[in-house]
Amino acid sequence: MEKSRVLVVGGTGYIGRRIVNASLASDHPTYILQRPEIGLDIDKLQILLSFKKQGAHLVEGSFSDHKSLVEAVKLVDVVISAISGVHFRSHQILLQLKLVKAMKEAGNVNRFLPSEFGIDPARMAHALEPGRVTFDDKMVVRKAIEEAGILHTYVSANCFAGYFVGGLCEPGRITPARNKVCMFGDGAIKAVFVDEEDIGTYIIKAIDDPRTLNKTLYIRPPENILSQRELVEIWESLLGKVLQKSQLSEQDFLDSMRDVDIVQQIGLGHYYQVFYEGCLTNFEIGGQGVEASQLYPEVNYTRVRDYLKQYL
Ligand code: NDP
Repeated sequence: MEKSRVLVVGGTGYIGRRIVNASLASDHPTYILQRPEIGLDIDKLQILLSFKKQGAHLVEGSFSDHKSLVEAVKLVDVVISAISGVHFRSHQILLQLKLVKAMKEAGNVNRFLPSEFGIDPARMAHALEPGRVTFDDKMVVRKAIEEAGILHTYVSANCFAGYFVGGLCEPGRITPARNKVCMFGDGAIKAVFVDEEDIGTYIIKAIDDPRTLNKTLYIRPPENILSQRELVEIWESLLGKVLQKSQLSEQDFLDSMRDVDIVQQIGLGHYYQVFYEGCLTNFEIGGQGVEASQLYPEVNYTRVRDYLKQYL
């Protein structure tokens, strides 16, 4: 069977780069949107050129130029958007409405994966303000996709390891503490941690799979379903040292959110949903969902212990 042609939008981004790598590694003809708005951003250009060297096709197109988006999506079978969606960097989720419009007009795309890759937004109707904007915007995009009749797969990738494993889940940290760590309450709520390279791998496996069509793909590698406490214990065993621990109660955490700016409130809101509420693991995957490590047992996903070794 011929491999589907894939367009990655946001291909120079944090998760977008991993998706492009996975697409190239699995020999899908890979196209990347090259936006003129990158201007003199030489680092982005270098990333794009390095992908081109590996066989990717760079396609010029802009979100301000509908025709260019239509032409870009006409080149491929599958479109994956990895456009930005964390407020402390950039949040452009609703721009994808323009992409949906272009795909509807082009009419040829047989799978679209919008930029999600985190907490399942469909389960977050109750989420706290102002952090809920992330979920609300992703649901606006879902509604547009479904109204346009575009075939899709939604990917809930849970916690990117780089942010959460790296920082032992402590907000504001991306490297693990070596002396003291603050726990969310008793640190017992289970979350799910996924190496970003594995996210790329699972995504590319899913794009042509009939089992993921119009479903949510949850990436829940079983050995990486861990509480913050378990994560810290793994780090302690690698360090050969026990960290001093403090506990932040749920109420103190909520109170602490009042004194920070809105960008931080949004981020902390997500930590609240994951580590106090348990929104990644407090449900069974139902009929509208499938789980990646079950569908693709051949993927030897990175275990948290191995991920943590790079920080030693
Ligand atoms: P990035 O911040 O790395 O940005 C991705 C790309 O978005 C950029 O490289 C750029 O693409 C594009 N972009 C940025 N601004 C604009 C703009 N104004 N117009 C058009 N394109 C723009 O994104 P992330 O990889 O951090 O986030 C991607 C997804 O992953 C989001 O949905 C986010 O919510 C989710 N996420 C999940 C996390 C988790 O732990 N589960 C953690 C972080 C993010 P280019 O220049 O290449 O065209």
